[in-house]
Amino acid sequence: MLVISLAAFAQTSEPAAVVIRAGTLIDGKSDKPRRDQIIVIRGNRIESVSDAAGAKMPSGASVIDLSHQTVLPGLIDSHTHIFLQGEDPAKGGYDANILTAPLALRAVRAGVAAQRALQQGFTTLRDVETEGAGYGDVGIKQAINQGYIPGPRMVISTRAISTTGGYMLEGYAPELDMPKGAQIVDGPVEARKAAREQLDHGADWIKVYMTHRSWVGKHGELASQPTLTVEELRAIVDETHGWGKKVACHAYSGIGLHRALDGGCDSIEHGLDLDDAAIAQMLKQGTWYVPTLSVYYTDWAPADTADGKRDRLRASAHEVSFKKALKAGVKIVFGTDMGGIPWTEPIAQEFTHMVDFGMTPMDAIQSATSRAAVMLDMDDQIGVIAPGAYADIIAVPGDPLNDIKVFENVQFVMKNGKTYASK
Ligand SMILES: [Zn+2]
Repeated sequence: MLVISLAAFAQTSEPAAVVIRAGTLIDGKSDKPRRDQIIVIRGNRIESVSDAAGAKMPSGASVIDLSHQTVLPGLIDSHTHIFLQGEDPAKGGYDANILTAPLALRAVRAGVAAQRALQQGFTTLRDVETEGAGYGDVGIKQAINQGYIPGPRMVISTRAISTTGGYMLEGYAPELDMPKGAQIVDGPVEARKAAREQLDHGADWIKVYMTHRSWVGKHGELASQPTLTVEELRAIVDETHGWGKKVACHAYSGIGLHRALDGGCDSIEHGLDLDDAAIAQMLKQGTWYVPTLSVYYTDWAPADTADGKRDRLRASAHEVSFKKALKAGVKIVFGTDMGGIPWTEPIAQEFTHMVDFGMTPMDAIQSATSRAAVMLDMDDQIGVIAPGAYADIIAVPGDPLNDIKVFENVQFVMKNGKTYASK
């Protein structure tokens, strides 16, 4: 009797299968799409992927028909800020977030941003700091994982780290002790302590600002103010690697960018002006490159002002660096800086810039799927449609290899085996 009841329990506890019929499948890893595929999902994982002809359909499975669409793994944006909202100067710009927005308002807006990302097919975000909202991302991640709000898988970095003189808020009377959008450290001891605190409170990655202000230099180059010393960064990297985690470094150009590489950072964020030595060092050290092209085409100051010249130089230098890195074979990962861009805008606009600058559509897709997954130490778990991976699956109309803009019209989103959006 006991044996029979256990057998019955085993039967009912196995989740019913869900079958997706994919007209075209781009699995995130293979270089070629496949036609007419059957994806079997059980629970939150992919069980099998096979040709529709001759595929064994599990009995009692519910079927999702995407036979007229292209099916891909859920997308990964590896550089976002759910706690920023586009920073419209007319609405008080960056400073209003910290000076006037109650934390609850910031949390709700961050939740809405996360939901928007998911609806657009981004089933994983690496969110690179909360901009003065402390450990708010830890709470948002919990709210998503506990099912209170829909949202992507969150890889979070909490407060971020910079130095005195190296982050906003700034420009206020020196007598005022203003709050900062990042944790400020000076010296290797404080740097290591900040990393320890952030890791202790749930940071999956540590985010460091290696440059801050930028301007057009004496020789027309993009100059940027370095922040942490190599010794300070090394303390952070050493501590973080000890926890089995990685360090993302915001770095524009010059001294700060080179300190980031000498200090052993794992990913260069933005990397607006990568000189040949930086590219060679990135190749040697296996450093990831997360360019964020789109955001540097927004909010340019007037062309005849110093800020306007700098804004245009940021974009043009970034284009050259992206092309050089692509040609050299640097590991490029998709990132947008959403939050710097209003969350009402399409995240997928970044694909268009990448392809315009010479990346093949398949390469761009892999930068937002399997390659990002490797950077996040989640290879074969996310960013791929293959047996054993999480069932993070999207569908777009038409052929993204011919028209990358179809990613701005994602029609189906599944995360963890659960369907969130279906047009
Ligand atoms: Zn950013």
